[in-house]
Amino acid sequence: MLSRTELEAWIRLFAEPGKKSNIVFLGGEPTMHPDLIHGVKVARECGFTITVDSNGYMFHDFLERITPDMLDYLSFSLDGPDSEINDPIRGNGVFGVCTANLKKAISKGFNTSLIYTVSNENIDHLPRMIPLLQDLGVKRFFIQVIGLRGSSAQKNRDNKSKQLQVDPQQWLDVVPEVARQAGQRGITVIYPKVFLSDEEIFECAGHVAENFFVFPNGRVYQCPLCEDYSVHSYEINNNRLVRLDGLTEERFFSLDIAEGCVMNKLLQPETISYRPDGSPLHRISCCLLKQRVDPT
Ligand code: SF4
Repeated sequence: MLSRTELEAWIRLFAEPGKKSNIVFLGGEPTMHPDLIHGVKVARECGFTITVDSNGYMFHDFLERITPDMLDYLSFSLDGPDSEINDPIRGNGVFGVCTANLKKAISKGFNTSLIYTVSNENIDHLPRMIPLLQDLGVKRFFIQVIGLRGSSAQKNRDNKSKQLQVDPQQWLDVVPEVARQAGQRGITVIYPKVFLSDEEIFECAGHVAENFFVFPNGRVYQCPLCEDYSVHSYEINNNRLVRLDGLTEERFFSLDIAEGCVMNKLLQPETISYRPDGSPLHRISCCLLKQRVDPT
């Protein structure tokens, strides 16, 4: 675990005065860190827009020790519209604790959002999230995907992973429609683009944006798909950000392939389906490219 001093120093490493930047504290579970509130205060001093992504447990009396003016967004994770769906995925009793703390946060005046990670276990229940969000009063809804299944290369994955992956057509049939309906009910929905049409341009965020995914072991990645591999572009050494040479993720960002995202092709090839002539059925977008549906 990072010490309070390291936490503060690391946040300041990424601060650029006058530049609009977001910082998201996530985990694991960020409220388990006893100095999270100190980190939030430092981030505020540095001018970041601040989000805390929590599983809803709010450890260390987080909700009692923080006020809405200190945070821009407080985000909660649920993977089902009730305990029958959510708790087998996220743990026994999680739905009750998470929704109770979400209600408390809303009553205290926090800007809240909810994150739902779609898998084969819960995609059919996604539409039922709309009335729940309305009941709770949550105005921002993030939909993520645990993995998509292609028709090829499935043998590379273990059974559990295959069970969780969503069929691409199912994703396309369900997610945009739920987002549209939620928008009609006053909820902003943000979800990954995933598939690019022939007319759409592929862009790698490693090239066209500036994102840093910072881990307590000091590794700093630009691409979230690379997180399990030792190809990070930067490292924090003695509280200084050091750019690394050699075979890092950056070498892959400029590769131009028919499948779109090169890391997706390397690490999750089962997400890509091919036509009989060998061309990919879809190009896969950067996982950081999001679609947004605003309230209508
Ligand atoms: S997900 Fe793909 S496109 Fe996005 S940053 Fe990583 S390598 Fe680039």
